[in-house]
Amino acid sequence: MSDTLQTIKCPACNKEMVKVFIPEEGINVDICLNGCGGIFFDNREFNKFDEKHENIDEILKSIEGKTFIKVDESLPRTCPVCGSKMVKNYSSANRTIQIEECYSCGGKFLDNGELQKIRAEFDTEEERSQATMQELYRTVGVKLQEIEDERKAAIAKQSPLSRLFNSMIYGR
Ligand SMILES: [Zn+2]
Ligand SMILES: [Zn+2]
Repeated sequence: MSDTLQTIKCPACNKEMVKVFIPEEGINVDICLNGCGGIFFDNREFNKFDEKHENIDEILKSIEGKTFIKVDESLPRTCPVCGSKMVKNYSSANRTIQIEECYSCGGKFLDNGELQKIRAEFDTEEERSQATMQELYRTVGVKLQEIEDERKAAIAKQSPLSRLFNSMIYGR
């Protein structure tokens, strides 16, 4: 999906979003400059700005000194590009920041200030994936422990005779 050229309305406050041109990338990012300060990224655009070393000067310059209206971040939102229902997801395995994603067109919406928080989380993409792996191992570890506990509980429920039988045959 390429850069959206039409003017879109903010999924959080319904104000018209303003296109901010990023010369380095040759793309426009939609920012809710006259409303809540939220940012909409077309498919894959977000990956160009989520790391600390990536340049967001143009974005920061455009929001500098502005006061934005408060929005209820828990409300469901609709994708301003394709009209699909957006899904709330954590930006990383650390589960601190929730962003809105559109699974149809790949668009992402961030509330005011979230981009800065996401960028502050990890120094590199490598650190980010390491954190994801750690979270995965932790989850899988918990699951394995649960299975083991269930097995032990099942054995404990057996009659003394079948327990004796099991210990003779299977050694458990
Ligand atoms: Zn807005
Ligand atoms: Zn969409």
